[in-house]
Amino acid sequence: MKSRPFALHPALNVFLDALFPPRCAGCFEWSRDVFCARCTTELRPIGAPQCEMCGAPFDPLAYSAPICAECRDKTPPFLAARSAFHFEGPLRVAIHRFKYQEKTALAGRLAPFLAQAIARDAILSDFSPQALVPVPLHRARHKKRGFNQSLLLARELGASLGVPVAELLKRTRDTPPQVGLNRKQRAENVRGAFILDAARFEQNGARILLIDDVFTTGATLRECARSLKIAGAGEICALTLARLN
Ligand SMILES: [Zn+2]
Ligand SMILES: [Zn+2]
Repeated sequence: MKSRPFALHPALNVFLDALFPPRCAGCFEWSRDVFCARCTTELRPIGAPQCEMCGAPFDPLAYSAPICAECRDKTPPFLAARSAFHFEGPLRVAIHRFKYQEKTALAGRLAPFLAQAIARDAILSDFSPQALVPVPLHRARHKKRGFNQSLLLARELGASLGVPVAELLKRTRDTPPQVGLNRKQRAENVRGAFILDAARFEQNGARILLIDDVFTTGATLRECARSLKIAGAGEICALTLARLN
């Protein structure tokens, strides 16, 4: 993953590197790749063994059923949720910069990790979504931040996969943080927080891939998937760059 995806004359590259040295998104040291070699070793991809439904990582040393207790208890409205990495270390730094320091260019550098997560997962690589739907920000937060990080990631991924991005969901209210709430409270916290922009929803039964930056408790993605299902969407999967636990 090069910092400049387009080809430049080598001399021009040297000149640009001198003016704007490409930096590691994790430690800010010089690096032509999005993460330097040292930070790359600190990234922990999430893969098997994990819950087939919500993607929760399982202890590789313990026997585990294919589905976690939470999903057995209540089947999620999505077929599968997956995340590229654990939310920690250099990726956590990069996502924080991406969201709060207006480093919108990071979307293009981080989105290839989403494509890699699809490629290495059996369910997602077979899914072939008809639309990518970003998790929306509330209007007030969008205005403050100036951009929706999930939409930027979805656009980059959509361009590389050749799948259209559809901003089907709107957030009706700014939900308080989910930290410290139990599962029931988290679900109630976001219940009804999303409405569908019906005018944009043309295909009943469409397979949709939801895109967000971080899977925190999963309540937001569940509620988004639920809203899409009620509106007539077909199968839904979810994909994030990182997962909190
Ligand atoms: Zn680094
Ligand atoms: Zn699960």
